[in-house]
Amino acid sequence: MLPPRTPLAELPTPLMELPRFGAAIGARVLCKRDDVGGPGTAGNKVRKLERLLGLVGPDAAVVTIGAAQSNHARATAAACARLGRRCVLVLGGDEPAGPPAGNHLLDVLFGAELAWAGSTAWDDLAARAELEAQRLRDAGEEVLVLPAGGSLPAGAVAFADAYAELVAQLDEPVGEIVHASTTGGTHGGLVAGRVLGGGVRPAVRGVVVIEDPHDGLADLYAWLAREAVALLGGTSDVHRNDLLLEYGFLGDGYGAPTPEGVDAIRLLARTEGIVCDPVYTGKALACLVERARAGAYADDAVVFWHTGGWPAVLTPSGGQILH
Ligand SMILES: *Cc1c(COP(=O)(O)O)cnc(C)c1O
Repeated sequence: MLPPRTPLAELPTPLMELPRFGAAIGARVLCKRDDVGGPGTAGNKVRKLERLLGLVGPDAAVVTIGAAQSNHARATAAACARLGRRCVLVLGGDEPAGPPAGNHLLDVLFGAELAWAGSTAWDDLAARAELEAQRLRDAGEEVLVLPAGGSLPAGAVAFADAYAELVAQLDEPVGEIVHASTTGGTHGGLVAGRVLGGGVRPAVRGVVVIEDPHDGLADLYAWLAREAVALLGGTSDVHRNDLLLEYGFLGDGYGAPTPEGVDAIRLLARTEGIVCDPVYTGKALACLVERARAGAYADDAVVFWHTGGWPAVLTPSGGQILH
C-alpha cells in the first residue's frame, strides 16, 4: 500500500542553469537543487522520509543506521525534530574524538539519541538497530526501523514523484540526468518515474559510489523501480540490463576521495558557488564532466541531480581533502 505523504521538504526544489560551469566543460548543464531547502539542510533523503514516515503512526519512534557522517541519519534526525518524534541513530564506528562536526554535529543539534556501533559492518549496524528498537518496544513504543539510506520501495516512490517534478520544470530537451547512487532509492525511484511517464527522455544515469562485491546493486535498483511503479498503480518489467549505471568513478571505495572527484568539486565551487562532497556528488559530477568532455552532451542539455551531502565537507577530513 502507498503510504501517505508527510510534508517535510520544500518542493519543488529549484532547477537552475550552471552557465559558467557548463562553459568550462563544453555542455549545457542544469542543476536540480535537492541540496537546498529544509528541513535540516535537506538532501535527497528528505524526499524519501516524506513517504517512509507514513508507514507508521504519527507518534512512532524512528530507528535507523548510517555511517558516522550519514546524510540519511541526519535528515531523519531533522525530520523527527520537526515532527516531535523520538529518533535513535545507530552510527558506524566509534564516537569520533573531539567536538562533533558536520552531520554528526547536526544529529546532536536535532536531539537524536546516538548509539555508536563500534563496527562499520552493515550487518552489525542493522543488528544493533534491532536491539535499540526492541528496547523501545519493550517500553511500549511503536517503532519504525529504517534501513540504510531509507531505500524501501515507499522511499523510492518519492523519487518517482521527483522525476515528474523535474519534467514539469523543463522547457528544453534534456538527454539525461546524472546522479550519485548507493542504496538505490533515488535511482530506482527516478527510473520508476520515467517508466510512469512513458519512458520518454531524460534517461537516468546512476554513478555508483559504493562497492558492489556480489554484483547485486543493479538487481536491487531494478527491484526498487518495479516496486515503486507497483505502489503507484502501474506495472513494469524493468530489468537490471535496462539501467544506465557507471561503476568507474568509485576509486578506492565508498568515502575514499578520487582526484577527478575533487577536481569536479573545485570546478563547480569556483564557477558557481555550489558545494559538492567527495563521497557522493563529487564522484557523480566527475562522471558528468568526463562525459561532457567526450561530447556526450553536444546536442542536448544534461541535468546534474544534486543530492546534497555537503555538511560532510565541514569536518576535519573534509578539510584534509578539499583545502
Ligand atoms: C544517500 C545519498 C545518495 C545516494 O542515494 P541512494 O538513494 O541511497 O542511492 C547520493 N547523494 C547523497 C549526498 C546521499 O546522501
